[in-house]
Amino acid sequence: MRFQVLTLFPDLVRGYAADALLARALRRKVIELDVLDIRDFSEHPQRKVDARPYGGGPGMVLACGPIHRAIEAAEAKAPGTGGRRVFLSPQGRLLDGELVRELAAEERLLLLCGRYEGVDARVLEAWEFEEVSVGGFVLAGGELPALVTIEAVTRWLPGALGHPDSVRRDALSAGRLGFKQYTRPPIWRDRKVPGLLRQGDHRQVAQWRRQQAETRTRNARGQRTETADGSTDPQGSPEA
Ligand code: SAM
Repeated sequence: MRFQVLTLFPDLVRGYAADALLARALRRKVIELDVLDIRDFSEHPQRKVDARPYGGGPGMVLACGPIHRAIEAAEAKAPGTGGRRVFLSPQGRLLDGELVRELAAEERLLLLCGRYEGVDARVLEAWEFEEVSVGGFVLAGGELPALVTIEAVTRWLPGALGHPDSVRRDALSAGRLGFKQYTRPPIWRDRKVPGLLRQGDHRQVAQWRRQQAETRTRNARGQRTETADGSTDPQGSPEA
């Protein structure tokens, strides 16, 4: 899969991708990454890319021109390939497991990182961007959300992880939270690893882990459980 990131801070993106999972995926050619600096597409002598918002208000808005030219350059790098254009935005569709798997099926993803007060809406409409949010909070820019998206999607690509089953066994993939994990030593500050995990009975271990995950999921989500009439049941329901 080819990721193309349009940003004002290319080193933030390149720096993260230079290590760990993304670096390995790049080396193995599971992914390709084009990072385009939007300022390179400014026609202003000082490489300006923003202007005051029409209608007033604080801050600056990224203008259409440099972004439009950056997208054209990105398209020219991958002619004839399909894919989706994503604008990272706090107003967007929440990035969850379902959307990640959907995006992982694409051959190319173009990710536009906003800054300041955002991006002129016209360029987003003209290039038919979909908006994606990483949570109900506001960050200073779209670079971290873009990297979150890239990493979450990359984990689903064949060859990205050491063990191909890892992603399927991940917490949340099965709609449950994860079970507790333990490693050596068996006793740490008087806290013991549950004995069952050290007895080598894989069937019992699997059952214990399933129960753990179900209990954690119930406890974490119980308070937010909706009742049949759509109101929130503060106690939660054990069946939820
Ligand atoms: N008032 C602006 C708004 O509500 O969109 C705030 C823009 S924010 C300071 C600058 C940029 O950060 C946004 O254009 C977006 O690209 C990115 N961003 C901030 N929070 C985000 C989030 N939760 N999910 C995705 N992108 C986000």
